[in-house]
Amino acid sequence: MKFTTQSHRQGFELMLTYLSDRGRFLSVLFFSLFSLGLSAQNDLKMEHVSGNVWMLSGGGYANISVLAGDGRALMVDSKRPELAEAIRSMVLEISGGEVEYMINGHAHPDHTDGNAGFGESGAVIIAHAEVRRVLMAGQRGGPPAPKAAWPDIVLSDGSSMTLYFDGEPVTIMHARPAHSPGNLIVHYQQSNVIHLGDLFSPERYPVLAGGSIEGFVEGNEMALALADDSTRFIAGNGIASQRADVQAYINMVKTVRDRVVQMISQGLDLDAVLAADPTAEFDSTWGDPGRFLPGLYRELAGQ
Ligand SMILES: [Zn+2]
Repeated sequence: MKFTTQSHRQGFELMLTYLSDRGRFLSVLFFSLFSLGLSAQNDLKMEHVSGNVWMLSGGGYANISVLAGDGRALMVDSKRPELAEAIRSMVLEISGGEVEYMINGHAHPDHTDGNAGFGESGAVIIAHAEVRRVLMAGQRGGPPAPKAAWPDIVLSDGSSMTLYFDGEPVTIMHARPAHSPGNLIVHYQQSNVIHLGDLFSPERYPVLAGGSIEGFVEGNEMALALADDSTRFIAGNGIASQRADVQAYINMVKTVRDRVVQMISQGLDLDAVLAADPTAEFDSTWGDPGRFLPGLYRELAGQ
């Protein structure tokens, strides 16, 4: 992979320059960054989920799902660029081949940063049009992503497509903006796995980053409508889940939403809503609501 090799070399040269300028402190920094890269690599874990679908977790970025074909693979999301080689060899072990299709669940860096390594080795990248726009422009104040990272095929709002990969229909659907404007659901039909990315989480509250709480309800209900009791679900973070986990997530989202709507109608401001603790019984499962509640309040109060 040209991109990975080149970026490693450039990074190394940059570090050598810094070392000659700044000496000891930066050599420690270099060693730490190097160790961090190695530990992220050691942290990667490939586990079988169902049928021909595997989940690649760890490395600090969002979960990847892999559809292992006969001598080739399809992958959802791409983790960090420095992990591309390690990911590639792990995919090779289960599929016997290269990643031919790469789907991005949405634009955020923890899902797309590793794209270029796979784009350069020939993977066709599929995403919502928003992802292409964001990667071309650069996100979070950063520069544009390398051209090899840009999606080749894009879906428009509300659209879907089905790709037959070694006979398995893989349906890719745009779900109404929830976590992000361009969030997709990927349904591996024969393997009976649905990749929901950050539309769902077994361990954290919804992150509203350009979507709406109704989008979370709708996206997860859309996924459940495609599922049966054996379906497995892959989230952006956390372990592979079951139907009951997704149902529990929908129930939690609706309950908290309804409570906050009622509190707003009673005239409570954000501080009063936070003091009333509308997520109390859910925190043991989904953690700290400190980021979720202010965004939810602003959305529901129309602010
Ligand atoms: Zn995200």
